[in-house]
Formats: sequence, structure tokens, C-alpha cells
Amino acid sequence: MLRWLKGLGARPSEVAELQARIDPELWRRVLDAYPFLRALDEAERAQLLARSAWLLASKHINGAQGMEVSDFMALSIAAQASLPILNLPPSLYEGWNEIIVYPAGFRIPRTRQDAAGVVHEYVEDAAGEAWEGGPVVLSWEDAQARADAFNVVIHEFAHKLDLQAGEADGMPGLAAHRDLPPRQWRRVLEDSLDRFTAALDAVEAAIPRHIDPESEEADAWYGQLPLDPYAATDEAEFFAVSSEHFFVDPAPLAEALPQWYGLLRAYYRQDPLERLARLEGGP
Ligand SMILES: [Zn+2]
Repeated sequence: MLRWLKGLGARPSEVAELQARIDPELWRRVLDAYPFLRALDEAERAQLLARSAWLLASKHINGAQGMEVSDFMALSIAAQASLPILNLPPSLYEGWNEIIVYPAGFRIPRTRQDAAGVVHEYVEDAAGEAWEGGPVVLSWEDAQARADAFNVVIHEFAHKLDLQAGEADGMPGLAAHRDLPPRQWRRVLEDSLDRFTAALDAVEAAIPRHIDPESEEADAWYGQLPLDPYAATDEAEFFAVSSEHFFVDPAPLAEALPQWYGLLRAYYRQDPLERLARLEGGP
């Protein structure tokens, strides 16, 4: 009990027991539902199953607003969340113990103090949230397979990797990565964020005035970018959004920001570009 309360991972025997109970047919359905999981080879699938079992044995997944979390939902969330740590130690996800699942997007009350000292209260629509030392909150509607590169599960768990090393600043812990000096990470991160922000500025300037930048019509312009515009918010969001694109739709990212892609590939110890190319070229 104390282990769990402290957010430590489950014991190997508990993980093995849980893994043995995962229905192979359900597991296949989960992998088939997401193209970026379908692309995994046999060895990667076995590793993802072990990581997913670790996650399910180590975290409580609770439905919010009266929602029942089915086995398919829990396994879908665990599999997506485990992809970033496929070749990393699961201990990077320790220190907290709950995943809360809302049926759809949820609203978060916010307070912000402006430069004049005035406090503003407002609500923000969200598809997910990651609390420092606390739960990951997800919208199930947004955690299902989609046609675009948006992936709320990978996004929030990338924030967890970032937070595990201290504040959310786009720099995950690099202690296990001797090949990645923090200074190099910082330099490539800042340079890539600058380039992306410049590309976003150029796209925004190119949108004709009669088109509302918030409308769907404007998507044709934003679609030219290698990442969702939200990535320009700050370093933490740049890392989280980049991680979504890295795993789900890596080609535009690898082409536009090759150094950043290379750094993410070295950090995650995976090459989704090669993996997905194999899927497209395969039978
Ligand atoms: Zn975020």
C-alpha cells in the first residue's frame, strides 16, 4: 500500500500477473486501432505489452463524471502512454499514481494575475492535463484514434517526463543519456523553437485578411507547418507537441527540424520515421 501511495511502480511479480491476464485479442484490437502502434514489430509489441502491464499495475485509472473505464479504454491509454518509455526505464513515470479519464473535453477553472495586479478568473477547455507530482487527466474522446497527429496521451505523458526532471521547461531528465549533453539539448531546443515560431509567424502573415485565423478555412495554411501551432507556446509545450508528432506523424517534423528530430530519436531511443515507412512499404 505504501509503495503505491508513494507512486512507486508495482513489483515485478504484480506486473507479470497482470500481464498474464491481458486478453491477446483485446491487445490486438488496441494495436490495430492506432496506426503508430500497428507499425511496431514483434519485439517492440512484446516490450510495449510489458510496459503497458507495468503502467496498469502501477496506476489507478479512474473515470470522471460517472464514466466506466472499460478494459479496452484502459489498455488503449496504457499502450499509448507506454510508447514514449518503450526503451526507457518505467521509473520515469513514478512519483504519482492516478490517471483520471473524462468522457470528453473538460473545463478547468484558472486564475491569472496580470501585470497591473488584477486577478482574472476564467475557465479553459482542455483535452488533457498533467499535474506535477499528481494525476494525468485525459479526455477519452480525444484519446481515441484520429486522422491527424494530435495525441493527448503522448502529450500529457511527455509533460510527465519533463516534470520528472523538475519544472516543465522542455528538458526531460538526461541522466541515463550520456550521449545527450544538457547544453546540446538546450541549444537545439531553443533554436528549433525559434525556427518554428518564425515559420508560424510567416504562415500567419500569409493568411488573407478575409479569412478568420481561428476558422477551419485557415487550417490549409497552418497545415503547412510541421507541428501544431500550440507548440509555439513555450519550451514545455514545444517538447510535448513535438513528442506527439514524433510518434504519430514524424515525416514533416524530421524534414523541417532534422536536428530536433535527431535529438528526440536519441532521447526516446526509437525511430518512428523508419518504423512508419516500414508499415507503408510492407504488405
Ligand atoms: Zn501541454
